[in-house]
Amino acid sequence: MHPIVGFFGGTFDPFHNAHLRMARAFRDEIGLSRLLLVPAGDPYHRTQDGLSAAHHRLAMTRLGVAGEARIEVDDREIRRTEPSFTVETLTELRSELGPDAELWFLIGGDSLANLSRWKDWQSLFTLANLAVALRPGFETTTLPDEVRTEWHTRQVSDFSNRTGSGTIRPLILPPVDLSATRIRDTLSRGGDVSHLVPASILRYIGEHGLYR
Ligand code: ATP
Repeated sequence: MHPIVGFFGGTFDPFHNAHLRMARAFRDEIGLSRLLLVPAGDPYHRTQDGLSAAHHRLAMTRLGVAGEARIEVDDREIRRTEPSFTVETLTELRSELGPDAELWFLIGGDSLANLSRWKDWQSLFTLANLAVALRPGFETTTLPDEVRTEWHTRQVSDFSNRTGSGTIRPLILPPVDLSATRIRDTLSRGGDVSHLVPASILRYIGEHGLYR
């Protein structure tokens, strides 16, 4: 049996209930043997100030998935001094796992629309398969032509014929209309986010005075 390994990267500022739901659906729908949650170190796409320190985002991500079967938090991007590109992390994982492993990476539907702006985006498909968690209201018409082409040609309906890389699969989890931006905004206004993040993360945010 080849390992089936998933990669889910994000800023996780903070890790929230939609991330948790995505992670569980990713693990269960793809049948992952291991899922690596990888908080971004210094995300190149984030230009505004105010990103929480990496160690806080790492700690919250760990709290969010504590006790979840087959889910690990991997701090490799945080340990790097340079910003990480997904293609680099997937290249590293591929060389660790070997050519026979089935490798998957997960993104949200909103990130899918930007995929063709990612570094070496075409080579992502030579390294891994792509799972997409769709946000409510997702329409393929919002995708740039080159991404829509991949979306249509790489989806396979028959999952008895699995490959190590190169396919796309939408996750069928019920979409959650929730973002970290909304959580930060609500907290900065003194609002209640207890229904949007795990209780352990809510406590951590309070103890460390984040997002005030
Ligand atoms: P922010 O609001 O700060 O941009 P976010 O909630 O989108 O944060 P990220 O850490 O940027 O969280 O997300 C990591 C990945 O999870 C991204 O691919 C993003 O598209 C996806 N994602 C986050 N929330 C959802 C959601 N509710 N439904 C689908 N995908 C989501």
